[in-house]
Amino acid sequence: MTKESRILFELTDIISINFECQNCGGKIGFSPQNWKSVPCKCSNCGGLLVAAGSDAEKLLGSLSENLKGLGDPEKKLKGLNAILRMEFSNEGKAIPSPNAPED
Ligand SMILES: [Zn+2]
Repeated sequence: MTKESRILFELTDIISINFECQNCGGKIGFSPQNWKSVPCKCSNCGGLLVAAGSDAEKLLGSLSENLKGLGDPEKKLKGLNAILRMEFSNEGKAIPSPNAPED
């Protein structure tokens, strides 16, 4: 029998948002409070991480703003009278290798 475990955390528990380049495997990370802009290029190889003007860039920009607003432990969000938590499965999931052949 497989035992499933889950992780429950608050947005203030997020310590970094990480981007891994699919070209070279280089990683760049930001704390939610210091994440100022969406990284378009890999700082290691110069490859494209997020296309400028794309839906991905817009959504990640919104995510950045939301994490700053909702995840700042010093900031009491006006109108929120609850503790906000997210839940993730802790089951091991294979992260596809950037070099793995597609099915
Ligand atoms: Zn790279």
